[in-house]
Amino acid sequence: MNRAAIVGAGPSGFYAADALLKAGWAVDLLDALPTPYGLVRAGVAPDHPKIKSVTRVYAKTAAHEAFRFFGGVELGTGVTREDLLARYQAIVYAIGTSLDNRLGIPGEDRPGSHPATDFVAWYNGHPHFADHMFKLDGGRAVVIGNGNVAIDVARMLVLDPRELAPTDTADHALEAFGMAGVNEVILLGRRGPAEAAFTNPELRELGELERADVIVDPAQLEDVAEPEDTTKRRNVEILRDYAQRPLTGKSHRLELRFLRSPLEILGDGEDGPVTGVRVGINRLVTAPDGRVRAEPTGQEETIECGLVLRSIGYRGTPVAGVPFDDARGLIRNDGGRVVSDEGPCPGEYVVGWIKRGPSGVIGTNKKDANDTVSHILEDEAAGRLGMPDPELGGAEAVQAWLVARVPDVVTWAGWEAIDAYESEMGIPAGRPRVKLVRLAQLVEASRGQQS
Ligand code: NAP
Repeated sequence: MNRAAIVGAGPSGFYAADALLKAGWAVDLLDALPTPYGLVRAGVAPDHPKIKSVTRVYAKTAAHEAFRFFGGVELGTGVTREDLLARYQAIVYAIGTSLDNRLGIPGEDRPGSHPATDFVAWYNGHPHFADHMFKLDGGRAVVIGNGNVAIDVARMLVLDPRELAPTDTADHALEAFGMAGVNEVILLGRRGPAEAAFTNPELRELGELERADVIVDPAQLEDVAEPEDTTKRRNVEILRDYAQRPLTGKSHRLELRFLRSPLEILGDGEDGPVTGVRVGINRLVTAPDGRVRAEPTGQEETIECGLVLRSIGYRGTPVAGVPFDDARGLIRNDGGRVVSDEGPCPGEYVVGWIKRGPSGVIGTNKKDANDTVSHILEDEAAGRLGMPDPELGGAEAVQAWLVARVPDVVTWAGWEAIDAYESEMGIPAGRPRVKLVRLAQLVEASRGQQS
């Protein structure tokens, strides 16, 4: 039986596992964290529990007898690409895109200016971010970017702590949101209302917030032509509705401001905390390729604020020895086959955001993973897979090697113990779970030894 190592236990890793298991392969799913589910656990906003219920599908995949999970195994530190090539017929990189894009403007790294992804990981209890601090007492916050992540963080900043109480928001974040003094969020888009990358339900949700009025200056919609794309057309309709709404006197405000590019994150001295954002006002121009671009008008405004969250997309982190497309921030691949200048790299494949970039919804990864797996099966039929060392490969040998290499490795049974523990902790407060946010706690819980 051929065996694949899938690196990354998020949606794309699970969809690839499912397709390979159905094709008769054995699958070892590795993750750097002791817990599975990637961005479903650490990215999807906690007030969106329905989206998280997709994990039931992944748990079914994990129940297959030829599936194993090895949590706490980091590619690059715990194990290397060469280790895996020596043991598996195929490696599937499903590692996502973990680096935030940079604005490249002065003041970007001042205290109080953060990648939105850090904030997301923090409120979702990702163990690497549990000790991050966010200044939530500054009155006004500015969120840069017009995608769904920007919407998520803007919404989280103005949600009533009572709305968050029944969710699996990390305890440290619940406490911080409970004391927070952010009462205004300004969401900045560099292009116009018709170019925003929001999806309709997410944008609509902003108009239903219990304690925040949503604000759009009607002037911003005056010259907006009807977009052909259905999602974008509905976005404009929703924004027109917001623009007509009177203020209802809610305690919080969430404003969407378009045609605004941050030019500088302001603060005291060279590295003092954020006090504001200097913003350039844009106009739209249509490039010869039809793309609508933002062009500076030369006009500027300054927005005072105490917190800046930058939500302008991500890029992948290179893996030692794996060809990387630096311009796109992805592993170099052709439809999911990893390729170098010499052609396809036998036995190496890629799925999800590290294959195609950070786009689409969770379900997008299913077709994406199936496409890659169809290439793996073609290569299997053509005898083009990786050539593991017969003495190192095989179920038991791999398990023994991994346990020796990573003594704290967490198996699927270990994850089920964590899951049961976290879920039980949530019961008294009617929460889906109380997340453990320390690696040591997670490993202990995986062994049934909660302290
Ligand atoms: P995204 O949808 O690609 O949005 C990125 C935003 O950043 C765009 O508005 C882009 O503007 C802007 N941007 C890029 N560079 C910029 C710059 N230098 N200055 C100012 N703005 C800049 O990315 P995302 O929000 O990170 O989301 C990633 C994916 O996850 C998306 O497919 C999203 O739909 C999905 N997601 C879904 C949900 C959900 O379904 N609830 C939640 C979260 C995320 P331009 O358009 O002008 O480039």
